[in-house]
Amino acid sequence: QCIANCPTGALHERDDTERVFEAINDPEKVVIAQVAPAVRSSWAEMLDLGGKAPTPGRMVAAIRRLGFDYVFDTDFAADVTIMEEASELMARLAAGEEGPMFTSCCPGWVRFVKDRYPALAGKLSTTKSPQQIFGALAKTYYAQLLGVDPANIYVVSYMPCIAKKMEAAYPGMDSTGTGPDVDAVLTVRELTRQLRSRFVNVDLLEEEEFDRPLGVATGAGHIFGVTGGVMEAALRTAYFFATGENPDADAFHEVRHEGPERGWREKTFDLPGRQLKIAVASGLANADALCRALERGEARYDFVEIMACPGGCVGGGGQPIIEGINLSADRGCTLRIIDEQSELRFSHENPAVKACYDGFLGEPLSERAEELLHSDHAAWTMPLRVTAGGAVA
Ligand code: SF4
Repeated sequence: QCIANCPTGALHERDDTERVFEAINDPEKVVIAQVAPAVRSSWAEMLDLGGKAPTPGRMVAAIRRLGFDYVFDTDFAADVTIMEEASELMARLAAGEEGPMFTSCCPGWVRFVKDRYPALAGKLSTTKSPQQIFGALAKTYYAQLLGVDPANIYVVSYMPCIAKKMEAAYPGMDSTGTGPDVDAVLTVRELTRQLRSRFVNVDLLEEEEFDRPLGVATGAGHIFGVTGGVMEAALRTAYFFATGENPDADAFHEVRHEGPERGWREKTFDLPGRQLKIAVASGLANADALCRALERGEARYDFVEIMACPGGCVGGGGQPIIEGINLSADRGCTLRIIDEQSELRFSHENPAVKACYDGFLGEPLSERAEELLHSDHAAWTMPLRVTAGGAVA
């Protein structure tokens, strides 16, 4: 009953592992994996690495052993998301639009607000999620770089999330007219099954790097997987857009933990010429309370991040389940440490993102960027269900 009625679509689990192996075995296809931020914090929880550290480098090596032509990083696309979303925020503020702008990278939250608070759904950012931005760029920008027909590119997402299976099938997520931008979405549990079924000896693997250029990411992209991360990454770049200078990379660290007050954290930051009031919430009970406060006029914000799962994607419905243990806080710490140790911590400094804009997209919010990287939330209405074949109905 829960699965049938889940408002977020997060409980509709479907095993797509064999579909992916069929594509890998098809000699016509260039098969590309993208790996979401939170997957690197949990991918080895159900595997025996013989005491070795479950680093992102070993995760890349393991996924490559499944037979992919390229293993790329969704965090590259998270950096692109920030370029678009921070630009969208600055444009809305400059136009004097009434806030808040809501983040839109969590399909669980998008479905929730459309279903329960339709009057607020128009406040969603139009910027696509990193998963969908990756798919769109893989089948356009990268297809051009490779000189390959996009119809022959097959994109597989490894996600901590079940709702992402549904997001990939939404109307409008087909940038080239050749099929969905993301062909298959697998959870971390499905990744574990794939590695076991193909007898990948993860304990023997050395670290390997993501392929380039869509495997280059910054610390700002990595923290998308933990509550407050999208907000923090966006504020770093919004500050740069407003001043032409980088803030301290940790200047907005106060958004990292949700407050005890009302179930969400609120803060006010100074941007030159104005104050920016933000809120961060995770978990649908907290999202519900925040939406109710907004509708009643009891709260007012410029920018709001909401993730449907408690703690963000680190606590996602596609993560490994270990009876009686909640590992989301540990996974969140892992992502924070990866950010702190990253050479680059600002999305706008990602050299691969810069090259993509210079050579293909033009500028954030350009006509091509709007066409490929933004979506119309009004293109579909609730209820929307995904069928066993991956289509929406
Ligand atoms: Fe999916 Fe949960 Fe992350 Fe939302 S918070 S994108 S539902 S894993």
